[in-house]
Amino acid sequence: KASVMDGVNFEDEVPAESLDKSMEKSAFEKLQEDRKTLPIYAYRDELLQAVDNHQVLVIVGETGSGKTTQIPQYLHEAGYTKRGKIGCTQPRRVAAMSVAARVSQEMGVKLGHEVGYSIRFEDCTSEKTLLKYMTDGMLLREFLGEPDLAGYSVVMVDEAHERTLSTDILFGLVKATRSVQSAWDLKVWTASLFVDMDPYWLILTSQDIARFRPDLKLLISSATLDAEKFSDYFDSAPIFKIPGRRFPVEVHYTKAPEADYLDAAIVTALQIHVTQQPGDGDILIFFTGQEEIETAEEILKHRTRGLGTKIPELIICPIYANLPTELQAKIFEPTPEGARKVVLATNIAETSLTIDGIKYVIDPGFCKMKSYNPRTGMESLLVTPISKASANQRAGRSGRTGPGKCFRLYTAYNYYSDLDDNTVPEIQRTNLANVVLTLKSLGIHDLLNFDFMDPPPAEALLKALELLFALGALNKLGELTKVGRRMAEFPLDPMLSKMIVASEKYQCSDEIISIAAMLSVGSSIFYRPKDKQVHADTARMNFHTGNVGDHTALLKIYSSWKETNYSTQWCYENYIQVRLVSPYPVLLLLFIDARMIVQSSLEGALVRSMKRARDIRDQLEGLLERVEIELMSNSNDLEPIKKAITAGFFPHSARMQKNGSYRTVKHPQTVYIHPTSGLAQVLPRWVIYHELVLTTKEYMRQVTELKPEWLVEIAPHYYQMKDVEDRVSHLCNLVVSMLLRLLDQRKCLAVQDACLRIE
Ligand code: ADP
Ligand code: MG
Repeated sequence: KASVMDGVNFEDEVPAESLDKSMEKSAFEKLQEDRKTLPIYAYRDELLQAVDNHQVLVIVGETGSGKTTQIPQYLHEAGYTKRGKIGCTQPRRVAAMSVAARVSQEMGVKLGHEVGYSIRFEDCTSEKTLLKYMTDGMLLREFLGEPDLAGYSVVMVDEAHERTLSTDILFGLVKATRSVQSAWDLKVWTASLFVDMDPYWLILTSQDIARFRPDLKLLISSATLDAEKFSDYFDSAPIFKIPGRRFPVEVHYTKAPEADYLDAAIVTALQIHVTQQPGDGDILIFFTGQEEIETAEEILKHRTRGLGTKIPELIICPIYANLPTELQAKIFEPTPEGARKVVLATNIAETSLTIDGIKYVIDPGFCKMKSYNPRTGMESLLVTPISKASANQRAGRSGRTGPGKCFRLYTAYNYYSDLDDNTVPEIQRTNLANVVLTLKSLGIHDLLNFDFMDPPPAEALLKALELLFALGALNKLGELTKVGRRMAEFPLDPMLSKMIVASEKYQCSDEIISIAAMLSVGSSIFYRPKDKQVHADTARMNFHTGNVGDHTALLKIYSSWKETNYSTQWCYENYIQVRLVSPYPVLLLLFIDARMIVQSSLEGALVRSMKRARDIRDQLEGLLERVEIELMSNSNDLEPIKKAITAGFFPHSARMQKNGSYRTVKHPQTVYIHPTSGLAQVLPRWVIYHELVLTTKEYMRQVTELKPEWLVEIAPHYYQMKDVEDRVSHLCNLVVSMLLRLLDQRKCLAVQDACLRIE
């Protein structure tokens, strides 16, 4: 058999068949035609009947059958929106935005009007909005303000099989909400949940009895067939199956494990591209994250450049969580005649987004997954092998419009014996602090008896309670405090929201929300084009003058940018990512070094940008007002700012060790200052860090120097003098840290060694 796969060896499993094609039509007309060709269309009336008959319905259908885009429209057409909005939750921001965009096109309305979306820090809805796509996290937040979901007639929890943390919590909450049918039920419900009832909550609920919702329709939709679990959980709710239209998919495995899956994926994609007819179908590759995708994109561009004009064009389309809207649309554009598209995607393309025209799937078998160590309370994103269920979903993406092929970059043996059957639900591998805070502020006190579909480990729950107690969000009885209530208003990690709440005391809320916004945007606001690394690094270090620490540097960047009246030019001069307003950056290129832009990732530039930081900051300012914290500025004195940071992040303190590494104070662990930190060469004796990232080593990212006595002053319940006292003599430390500043690392270690021996 002539194999496409000469470079990477695959084995075949199923033979292929031929495919059929549809005709071309005018835009809107064609959209309407397309709607009718979706598998779900044949079941429209039956589905509406089922929704009418049952309060809860579990809907199962192959990815691409039309669940997400069509069901809300059907319900709207059937008049459900007369009673309230239809909410549809998505585990991913990109999915919420892109699906909303698609549905608004299909309905011929402007996005944000009748059809809108809501994701964290971005609300694209209006008074008019009837169909609201949102992340599951956003619906969870809406529960805070409206525990009976009064504005909704239907809530569709989509992509339920993903079992994200927020989806799981929503399950528990909607189950409770809809089952409250009478005043008596309400009493039973509240009695079971609110063991230690807050009088404020009691008054609220007794007034709101009439608003509790036997009329709320609840749809749970999923792309996998194990729907029984959902059905059982919702008291044997009926299951509505949309028979899929799936073409056979040939699965190939590599003969031996691939050492470098990124390279193997690229080689495989190029082999397909070079040997197969271009009109034949597009390629989808699953990667684990943005960085990998950016690398792959660069390599692919480089390698296709050398292919010459005989080979058809290969259009490279990246898609990942942070990709801005303007660029997302690209993956859905039909591939031009004679070209081929290769989509480089994260897990997002597994079930959340359906990309038409894919015939080849390349699956390296990995995804990035959150894992949590309840003992240390540390959370990290790790590249992990996917589950069999995921692998099958991925393969299925190639057989939607015709027979497809899936190339797994692992062996058949790996698949059958190494992969787990299903992915562990997120709730069992996450830091629950945020969840606990949300549930507590909803008045749900007895978390151990909350009706979770798969309860989180008790240890993780206790850890979360412990952290919230340490932060002052809960009192000794586990009740929400005033601080906790304020913290819950912020859609941020509890440590960040504590930092903001504490800024009131230190009279520096103005600075602190800028810092929080900059931290939320992510650490990569700097770009570092390959040919200008020195310039970029110098520009970056300018903000670190005086070794102020990374938090203060972020603040300096934000305020300097503000002083220039948010100038784009300023950002370019300082190698800082700003939002490019034009989707055609060509014009901008006239002003800036073209290579610099091309080489830095445009996609990244659009999102991890100052513009976004400004948006977030504006929203935080609004929330400050809501929790009645005055906007106060104290920019001449760094100490209060650092203290406010400490008030949120005191559990993240670390002390330098003799060899220039650090040791975290509680739950001791060896960590290092990230090389991009302004303090990487300075190595202060005591630091506080924003997060730990595991790359080659466990690195602290966003680091600020701190005085150990602050820990005892700010968190006396958490630290005692003995935790922060130095065991090694002060003189030795002084010498060491001075030397560290003066000498390079290697010489320094030798001197340190000598010092130690003297001691
Ligand atoms: P499901 O939710 O069952 O997986 P969807 O409703 O998401 O299915 O998809 C139905 C169809 O709509 C697919 O053919 C898909 O390609 C198309 N579609 C969805 N979102 C978009 C978009 N943003 N742009 C273009 N087409 C889209
Ligand atoms: Mg969907």
